[in-house]
Parts: sequence; C-alpha cells; structure tokens
Amino acid sequence: MRADTKLKALGELSQFDVCGSPQAFVTHKTSPRFPFIYHSIGESNEGNSTRLFKILQTNACEHNCSYCANRKDRNFERLSFTPKELAETFMYYYEENLVEGCFISSAINKGAEASQQSVLDTIKLLRKKYKYEGYIHTKILPGVDEEMIREVAKYSDRLSINLEAPGDEWLSKISKHKKFSNILSQLQSIAKISEEKKLKSGVTTQFMVGGTDESDKTIMNLVSKLYKEFKLRRVYYSGFMPIENTPLENLSPCFPQRELRLYQADSLIRQYNFTSEELPFDSKGLLPINEDPKLAWAKQHLDLFPIEINKASFEELLRVPGFGKISADKIIEARQVNKITTLDTLKRLGAPISKARNFITLENHFFPTKSPELEAKYTDKAGAVGKLLQKQLFLWEEM
Ligand code: SF4
Repeated sequence: MRADTKLKALGELSQFDVCGSPQAFVTHKTSPRFPFIYHSIGESNEGNSTRLFKILQTNACEHNCSYCANRKDRNFERLSFTPKELAETFMYYYEENLVEGCFISSAINKGAEASQQSVLDTIKLLRKKYKYEGYIHTKILPGVDEEMIREVAKYSDRLSINLEAPGDEWLSKISKHKKFSNILSQLQSIAKISEEKKLKSGVTTQFMVGGTDESDKTIMNLVSKLYKEFKLRRVYYSGFMPIENTPLENLSPCFPQRELRLYQADSLIRQYNFTSEELPFDSKGLLPINEDPKLAWAKQHLDLFPIEINKASFEELLRVPGFGKISADKIIEARQVNKITTLDTLKRLGAPISKARNFITLENHFFPTKSPELEAKYTDKAGAVGKLLQKQLFLWEEM
C-alpha cells in the first residue's frame, strides 16, 4: 500500500479531532489533495495559522462508539502506519516545509496501551532518530495508565484526551466502552503531569456537541471547572456530523452556529472572567443562536450600562460588547493622556465601536447607533443618559 493512500485516508479521518478555531472562523480550508495538512489558527484568531500534519496512526478500531467513522462494525478499509513509516512520512513533509508541526491520534486496536505504544514509538523516532525539535501534539487514548502518559509527555509539547460528553448520562448513550469518570480522572492525571513537566503547550480536551441531548449549560459548567481546577489550555467543540453506516447516521448535524456560540462562551470564561452562571442560557440551557453571548448578557444587564469610558475599570471595559483586552488596555493608556470624547478617538485606538457605542458614554455623552433624536430626547441638561433610553433602543434596534 502506497504511503500517500494511507496518508489521505488517515488524514481525512483525523478531521474529527479539532485543535483550532471553529469552522465558522476558518479561512484556510484543508486541501482535498492534502487532507492531512490542517491550518490551525492561533488563539488570537488574528489569522496566524500553523500548518499541522494531523493524522491517525491507525483507523482499525476494536470499539464501536456510535458516532465514530472508525467504529468496528463499519465496513471500510482499515489502514495503519508503522511508527517508522509515519515518522519518515512526517519528516518528508516537514523538510519540504509543507508542515510546521504534528498532531497524532489513533483508534484503539489490540488494547489502548498497544495503540498508545505505536504513537509513542512514532514520536520517539521523531525526537531521537530524526532530531525533530518542533511541535508535537499527542492524543492520549482512553484507558492508558499514568506511566504511559508520563512517557508520552517526555516527547510532546501538548497532550489531549477527548471527554466527548459532559457526563456519563450523555457519554453512555454514544459509547458503550467509555466511562466519563475514568476519562475525567485520566484528564486530571494528564493535567498534573503537564504541570510537573511544564509542557510547553499544555493540555486540551474536546467535546462533541449535538450527538446527544446535552445542553450548553451542562457543557459550560464543566468547562468552567476544567479551566479552574485542571488549568486546561483550551477546550475544543466539535459539532456532531452524521456519518454513513453508523447508528447515528440519521441524526441531524449540529448547527454550526451552536459550535460558534460555545467557542464565544468559552472565551468569556477563559479570557473575560465570566462565570458559567452568568452566561445567557435560555430555559433549555442553550445559548442564544442569533447573537453572541456577550451582547446577550449585556442586554440582560442594562442596569450596569452605560459605563463611562473615562472612568471605567479594566474589568468593566472588558464587559462592553465588542471590547477585548487589547481595546481595554489601549483605552486606559490613552485616557491617561487626554480624556476620550469622541467615537472617532476610540476608532483610532482600534476599539470596535459598532456594538460598544450602545453601552458606553464619553464624558457623559451617549452615542447610540443611529438614534440622534432619542439621544437628544433622553439626554438631560448635564449630559447624563437616562436608563429609559437604553431600554427603548433595544426594543427596536438591531445590535
Ligand atoms: S474508541 Fe475512538 S476510534 Fe474507536 S470507535 Fe470509539 S471514538 Fe472511534
């Protein structure tokens, strides 16, 4: 079997492991010719992309998770790389400057330990024989012991294990052999080992979204704990896609917007100090589909707005829809020199104002979207803005 046939098949099947931004943000699509080259966009989402060689060591799985393309009962060609083959193939693409790092995962064949050993042998060859010093992200398989994880950590920059669902109630519906509590305790061990060994790129996990009836609220409550207690570097969300010849082939795919909202909510927890309890879930525990969660939260908390740009703390600025850490820093720096009195000044600082202008005042003047007459009507002589104005604006404005 030619290596490029294996590469194409095992690269395509690795697509279910996510390690970058959601599809909605992705501008560099994977080429059909090189499905194993994955453009992973960095945390900043500023367009910096790393070309990862993303591959499965084997697709021959002895388990039968009902959502998975590699499940045992699915009739398709089973392929495997030997460690030597995979290491040599990666080095070819690396030396040709077609990829900058690798992410290796595997199905489970002849037990989790044996499958993990093949992946370990591959990354050992890369580090020891080929003296490769670049980025390696290694997937830890459910069921391997701590000693194996420690060994894999020696050669990896990042480790991950997929939780897939936020608890046994949901995981047991899609996988008979995986136990949530076991995977969670493996994730905890991985996080501990990462702390001890100071893994350069830390630990991540992934949830599959929409394959069962889990709510966004259940996921985000767990995610909040994972960031706090396990110090995870990132959590990824992979929207469920039905795969032919699997028990879930007739289930509808996850709405891409749901995946996007989860990433946005994740960012509010990870970067903006929101708690999961503050997120704007509806009565079914779902995030709003039609607007970003920060804007939805602000609209539910109009009593906290508008905030005065020239006085607000860094934390208050971070709560303004549209503002991020960079905008907040720039505003604080600029107002130490001169008070900020115009939207143009904010624009020049690079602060996005299209959403923010409805939640801020500049020296007590309010500049809501396309509503000068309302501004005039509800702005008192001293320039203070009545709360009534905010409430009325939201009744008929598109934010
Ligand atoms: S163990 Fe992994 S590869 Fe195997 S069927 Fe389950 S999800 Fe798929």
